[in-house]
Amino acid sequence: MGGEARAVVGAGISSRGEWGMVLTGVVAMDGPSGTGKSTVSRRLARELSAAYLDTGAMYRAATLACLRAGLTAESGPEQLAGIAIAADLESVTDPAAPRILLAGTDVESEIRDQPVTQAVSAVSAVPEVREALVARQRALIEKALAEGRGIVVEGRDIGSVVAPDAGLKVYLTASEEVRAARRARQDLKAGRRADGAAVLADVQRRDRLDSTRKTSPLHAAPDALVLDTDELSVDAVHAELLRLVGERGLVG
Ligand code: C5P
Repeated sequence: MGGEARAVVGAGISSRGEWGMVLTGVVAMDGPSGTGKSTVSRRLARELSAAYLDTGAMYRAATLACLRAGLTAESGPEQLAGIAIAADLESVTDPAAPRILLAGTDVESEIRDQPVTQAVSAVSAVPEVREALVARQRALIEKALAEGRGIVVEGRDIGSVVAPDAGLKVYLTASEEVRAARRARQDLKAGRRADGAAVLADVQRRDRLDSTRKTSPLHAAPDALVLDTDELSVDAVHAELLRLVGERGLVG
């Protein structure tokens, strides 16, 4: 099924959060790589019985489709857009087991490998690719809301472009060194090789490409709350997010 968004909500979500609270709106979590976005977004979604959408995984899976079609980061934007837009993607928005399927196959592990990480910023800089994936992301958000569920959405342009009306927008930051160290730890944990200097270079390269592209460059929305996570533990960020959703009236 090319060109449309599909979402599968897993059965693992309880109807009420641990404290009986559920998220009732959209939380936009943006920021560069290695700020802990995925960890805290998933945890928040789980605790508040909400859906969770990793938009980076969508750009990565679209990039994998391009690589499988024999394209590279240097291929022309038209070629990249042609394949990326037609890619058959399915996002599983269960925060307990989020996954992305390409042509019906789980590619969650493959999209984190070096070839995709190397090429994804080039593919995601193509305006037509962004337009198509933003439309899919908005459809998934609408679907969750129509089902009466809140959703935590993470990416680079969620508060600024995908969901400008989100009830809470958070922009996570951290120093390059801390982010590279976190990325390296994640890679090791997932069984991938992690050379500290190479991971730092990759973080710097993607930051530069993502924040200087013409369409939807990475930046904090003017009304986003900026949280520097250099000195904050996951528990501390989680506690702050819970406080913020309560303050914004986003829990029921
Ligand atoms: O979040 P993650 O590091 O997996 O994202 C991979 C890449 O996807 C980013 O470096 C960026 O180029 C792109 N991306 C994007 N917009 C988003 C999410 C991810 O351009 N909303």
